[in-house]
Amino acid sequence: MNKRTFGVIGLAVMGENLALNVESRGFPIAVYNRTAAKTEEFMATRAQGKDVKAAYSLQEFVHALERPRKILVMVKAGAPVDAVIQDLKPLLEKGDMIIDGGNSLYEDTERRTKELEPTGLGFVGMGVSGGEEGALHGPSLMPGGTESAYRELEPILTKIAAQVEDGPCVTYIGPGGAGHYVKMVHNGIEYGDMQLIAEAYDLLKNTLGLNHQQLHEVFAEWNTTDELNSFLIEITADIFTYIDKETNLPLVDLILDSAGQKGTGRWTVFSALELGVSIPTIFAAVNARIMSAYKDERVAASKELTGPTGKYDGDTKSFINKIRDALYCSKMCSYAQGMALIAKASAEFNYNINLSECARIWKGGCIIRAGFLKKIQTAFNENPSLPNLLLAPEFKQTILDRQEAWREVLCIANKLGIAVPAFSASLDYFDSYRRDRLPQNLTQAQRDYFGAHTYERIDRPRGEFFHTEWTAK
Ligand code: NAP
Repeated sequence: MNKRTFGVIGLAVMGENLALNVESRGFPIAVYNRTAAKTEEFMATRAQGKDVKAAYSLQEFVHALERPRKILVMVKAGAPVDAVIQDLKPLLEKGDMIIDGGNSLYEDTERRTKELEPTGLGFVGMGVSGGEEGALHGPSLMPGGTESAYRELEPILTKIAAQVEDGPCVTYIGPGGAGHYVKMVHNGIEYGDMQLIAEAYDLLKNTLGLNHQQLHEVFAEWNTTDELNSFLIEITADIFTYIDKETNLPLVDLILDSAGQKGTGRWTVFSALELGVSIPTIFAAVNARIMSAYKDERVAASKELTGPTGKYDGDTKSFINKIRDALYCSKMCSYAQGMALIAKASAEFNYNINLSECARIWKGGCIIRAGFLKKIQTAFNENPSLPNLLLAPEFKQTILDRQEAWREVLCIANKLGIAVPAFSASLDYFDSYRRDRLPQNLTQAQRDYFGAHTYERIDRPRGEFFHTEWTAK
């Protein structure tokens, strides 16, 4: 049999689908999975009639590949990736390349790149977004690491990625862990988007009393707008129409309100804290999932801690539009935070990330794909060193025009006792970022008072520090 162009290790849902995607673009592939039964099953079902060679040992797998070998590792993130690399390493030769397409922590990718590059092997840490469907039909790919390896892989990656009007949803992100860093922040932004949509749903349902058909109609209409048109709004509209066959009730109402998380949102928050970047919307989204998991405690507390009840008594249509505006303003803040985090990491870790390109490759294939990303792409294209997305002319004007509606929605939510943590965090972000003087002069005074931490003065040059004996008046 001819040598294979591309190899995939790991035949769980993502590995299988990516393997089939690569094969469908005309590249002969070899596959290997630790548990042989999984490989046999794949060969007997989905790989039937396809140009796929099954290997039952790593030696056989490596031998089946043409040189330089291009191997995609799609196994559980963490120790399994190291285990696979350790087993592969002695079998590979200079110039061969390993792609880790899992959700690896960028620091692990950084370490693996440093270990492998000096041995002459290429290592590409690649974020893959789009879930199972994306993997099969065209994901958004965020590869980083050994650039020469990426260039060899480019003809394949550009074919398997989602395609949008200005090209495939893949670009070289940067060295080391840059690809996985951007994927991590992408997931953090995804947490933010999902929480903001959940809050809009809560408001529509509990301040206006909309039923499922009406909720479907509102989200379907929002999905036709320039600002909110997106995959997540589209599936939200769809979800409201799904009726549970057993009970004949909308399925969404039967789902336990306790959200899971796998860790990438939390990692985004950790990294932001470490780098000193303010991402309150994404943080609020992670917190909201944590709070949602206190289900039993919340049920008990709901009987003890009462609050306001009642519905909004103004004009329904106009309030729906205000919720839409609040959602859009909050979303702008969330993306401003995510992009600022990527920019800081890029500067700190010398990733040299192109923010406009990040927005471009998220326009297709991935969970956060949205019409609005085109505006972000343009904003960073016009000004690559834009300090904050909210300062781009397009976003600035939109947020200034809609802030009144946003504030009104938050007032009503507070008055009616509906928690809107991500909407509120976003408005606080906006109101803090736009103010030239915050109350942290007092914080500095307190720090100097109790800990002699010193302070700077507004009437002296920056960098000159003062201490006061506060009790010696
Ligand atoms: P998964 O459940 O994360 O991993 C299962 C695969 O890992 C199996 O092939 C398993 O082999 C292999 N594996 C586990 N431990 C191993 C070890 N010590 N040595 C060798 N192989 C080992 O699979 P997945 O859901 O397809 O995800 C793969 C990666 O993509 C993960 O990092 C995931 O976070 C990421 N990802 C997933 C999605 C998604 O929607 N699922 C989306 C984007 C990214 P055996 O069959 O032998 O157990």
